[in-house]
Amino acid sequence: TEEMLIKSEKLSLVGELAAGIAHEIRNPLTTIKGFVQLLDQDSEDKKHLYTDTILNEIDRINFIVNEFMVLAKPHAVFFSKCNIVEIIKSLKYLLEAEAILKNVIIIDAYESDEMFLFGEKNQLKQVFLNLIKNAIEAMPFGGIITISITKTAQDILISIQDNGVGMSDEQVKRIGEPFYTTKETGNGLGLMMCYKIIRDHNGKMSVQSQLNKGTNFLITFPILMDNKIEF
Ligand code: ADP
Ligand code: MG
Repeated sequence: TEEMLIKSEKLSLVGELAAGIAHEIRNPLTTIKGFVQLLDQDSEDKKHLYTDTILNEIDRINFIVNEFMVLAKPHAVFFSKCNIVEIIKSLKYLLEAEAILKNVIIIDAYESDEMFLFGEKNQLKQVFLNLIKNAIEAMPFGGIITISITKTAQDILISIQDNGVGMSDEQVKRIGEPFYTTKETGNGLGLMMCYKIIRDHNGKMSVQSQLNKGTNFLITFPILMDNKIEF
């Protein structure tokens, strides 16, 4: 039956995820093991280099596990009235130093200073932190990120646009797939998390991208009316 089919699809997705996680964690563990063995044999002056690598790899495992904790939603998340403009402005502030360092200019335009949606502030932060970081990483020689927030009677529309490396149609099809990354130090979990959180907020995300031209991520959320509680 259809119901059974859906269930077995879900099971294989869990299996795929588990295999992916195991693989992702085994890589840094192998590195750690190798460097601990070196640490045991080698001279004093190299030890700092080894411990640095070991600590980085431990951070990587930590990061992967943390990302999955968010996805698994082990804690209750409390939705409340969130000003998305304030959230995105705070992220812009947070990322500005890194952007300047990489010759990236962030231009922002907000239709108003207050646009509210019903959501979880930290999860929303995660989403836009990921998207803006991806945009910075898509421009290794610098460029411009344009962030805009507008609204209609029903929705809040957010656009994060860069003029970076862009993606082919094949790449666009794969984004959001767990562990899909084209970056040497990427983990391919960011967009999967974005999709999940946006869905939990009754929102939608679409992508327009052209190779060597740039990428535009468009996100919409239902707007929270002043005199009406939704959900
Ligand atoms: P990660 O950033 O760790 O690679 P993500 O899930 O955030 O993982 O992104 C997956 C992949 O999607 C990236 O490796 C990259 O190939 C592509 N991608 C995401 N955002 C952009 C962007 N703004 N421009 C070009 N490619 C992008
Ligand atoms: Mg990312």
